[in-house]
Amino acid sequence: MDVLGGMMCVLAPWIVSVAVGSYLGWERNRPIDGIVLGLILGPLGMILTACLPYRYRWFCPECETGVKRSAKRCPACRTKLS
Ligand SMILES: [Zn+2]
Repeated sequence: MDVLGGMMCVLAPWIVSVAVGSYLGWERNRPIDGIVLGLILGPLGMILTACLPYRYRWFCPECETGVKRSAKRCPACRTKLS
């Protein structure tokens, strides 16, 4: 029985979950939520993070619609965002 190999089989998806969770959390302006959920729940936490609502901190200067941090254009009025 290869203990290290077995551990890697468990850890690898967990590490991926934390990485993806932190990215999904960052995109939703909830970076800590994503990492914590990924750490505690693994793949399930990753899915939960994907279901979290976006918490907007960025607003369109033209129409004040909440926009994703990664957005290039306002989804409502198509104003170009920097
Ligand atoms: Zn707008």
